Amino acid sequence: MRTVPWRMEFDTMAKRDYYDVLGVDKSASADDIKRAYRRLAMKYHPDKNPGDKEAEAKFKECAEAYEVLSDQQKRQQYDQFGHEGLRGAGMHDFSRMNVEDIFSMFGFDDIFGGIFGGGGGRRRGGQRGPTKGFDLETGVELTLEEIARGTEKTIEFTRQDMCSGCSGSGAAKGSQPAKCPTCGGSGQVARGGGFFQMVSACPQCKGAGQIISRPCSDCKGTGRVPKKRTVSIKIPAGVHEGQGIRVAGEGEPGQGGGPNGDLYCYVRVLQHEYLQRDGNDLVAIVPISFTQATLGATIDVPSLECTKRLRIPAGTQYGSVFRIKGQGLPDLRSKRVGDQLVQVTIETPCKLNHKQESLLREFAESENKSVSPKSSGFFEKLKKQFGGN
Ligand SMILES: [Zn+2]
Ligand SMILES: [Zn+2]
Repeated sequence: MRTVPWRMEFDTMAKRDYYDVLGVDKSASADDIKRAYRRLAMKYHPDKNPGDKEAEAKFKECAEAYEVLSDQQKRQQYDQFGHEGLRGAGMHDFSRMNVEDIFSMFGFDDIFGGIFGGGGGRRRGGQRGPTKGFDLETGVELTLEEIARGTEKTIEFTRQDMCSGCSGSGAAKGSQPAKCPTCGGSGQVARGGGFFQMVSACPQCKGAGQIISRPCSDCKGTGRVPKKRTVSIKIPAGVHEGQGIRVAGEGEPGQGGGPNGDLYCYVRVLQHEYLQRDGNDLVAIVPISFTQATLGATIDVPSLECTKRLRIPAGTQYGSVFRIKGQGLPDLRSKRVGDQLVQVTIETPCKLNHKQESLLREFAESENKSVSPKSSGFFEKLKKQFGGN
């Protein structure tokens, strides 16, 4: 029984439900989701909330929710397994992306222009210089033993890689993307007149600046195909829940010859059977008998590598904490090793044999404490006194 309160480490990076974030219900259609995202993205857009960090965080949270709920496969995984189901699904790391990139990613460059992009229409090179690819994030689960020693993990994830069938151009073999006739290749059109002229993404090429008449069959003209990647990541001893390990160059490929983005691998600590983590200390809650607590004892307590011997002094109270030096986890930076803390609980015996019971009754008498009468024989006595059967 773990009734003793102990300061537990909670996951502070807890994520909100994606449907709540977008304010739609679970049965929302793809169109509802798109509309909700568009409305919130405009509301929280940093241009409308200059210097407001909270608005920017909300904006990115919406983008993350939209990335999942607008993708049939990711949405299904999320519906079934929650946030856990998306580990390794190749999610973008929006916290590190700038607003412009997030817009272009979902084809919403024109969000203020009134034209509604078809989604997925990302700017491909075109008139822009080389840009770094998007960062991705994934998760890794570690046991306390692995955290104590440091470890190397093999991570599998999916990322959008350059299509080898068309070398990323999106055009079928033997054909070339052509300059978009509407915008002349700039990807932007100016509309309106008088005092106000609005520049927005070209409706024909969705900002790409080019038209693909014969799309590559491998990537359906996007120039990208999902590809499984396997990388090995060195994890230093002493990492904490929620910390990210950066793997340079394992994100999505860049645009126009730009470098790859990075992969951020976030740590999740698996629950240990007996031990809880408290900073760099480990805490075990160990039950002892009331006679051990009263008279003192040497007991075996679970620790990371094996069991450890611990001397409990006579007169130990419920909830007392003992410290075993140097049996905790190493500090990530200083490498100084924490301690193991053992908190004892005291078990009250439920079944006593005849001899144990009479010894205890004698003990209670010597303490001059009133205890319940013997249960066996009590009703017998009643019967004798008042008769009946
Ligand atoms: Zn292709
Ligand atoms: Zn165009």
